[in-house]
Amino acid sequence: MSKSEKFYEAYLSHRHISRRGLFRAFLTAAREVAPTAVSSQPSHPLPPGALPVAEFVTHCTQCHACTDSCPMGVLTKHESGLPQLAIEFASCDGCASCIEACPTGALQPQIRFDTGLRPAFTRSCVNGIRSCNQCVEACPVNACSIEETHMPVVDSALCNGCGECVIQCTHSAILLQ
Ligand code: SF4
Ligand code: SF4
Ligand code: SF4
Repeated sequence: MSKSEKFYEAYLSHRHISRRGLFRAFLTAAREVAPTAVSSQPSHPLPPGALPVAEFVTHCTQCHACTDSCPMGVLTKHESGLPQLAIEFASCDGCASCIEACPTGALQPQIRFDTGLRPAFTRSCVNGIRSCNQCVEACPVNACSIEETHMPVVDSALCNGCGECVIQCTHSAILLQ
């Protein structure tokens, strides 16, 4: 199942995928992501709670119980066969369904939910020209603020990498990395 199909399925079956996320899905439905190199040390984002990379690849059997359990449709199958966290059309809400579904312990419960990703604000941000504040308003943990230069800034200690700011930014000015 492609990333877009997975998103639509999640949208139709589940709770709070935003209309903006659906809009992003329509905009990018025809765009196929270029394959990335297959590696025993994946550099793509892994599901929340993943063991350190070297351990993860030895524990993960690529069963995709995690992918199938994700109500937000943000877990997909990477070309390597491993699961990947792909926040493009919806954010990760930290529900931990993926962790509970994993039968091998490749995903471990977290004391504090964190995808390990953090937003980076690009030159596409318009906040220096006119007030926007969408990322600030979108952040559920108040990790995003506007500094004196009028550029957004993230408090990495507060941020949990959920990606909601990415989904809500209408200027595609935020990368999650
Ligand atoms: S924590 Fe929930 S929303 Fe996030 S990837 Fe896992 S199952 Fe999906
Ligand atoms: S459920 Fe666990 S073992 Fe199965 S693909 Fe996901 S991380 Fe790997
Ligand atoms: S990734 Fe989530 S927690 Fe972090 S700044 Fe964006 S909205 Fe806030």
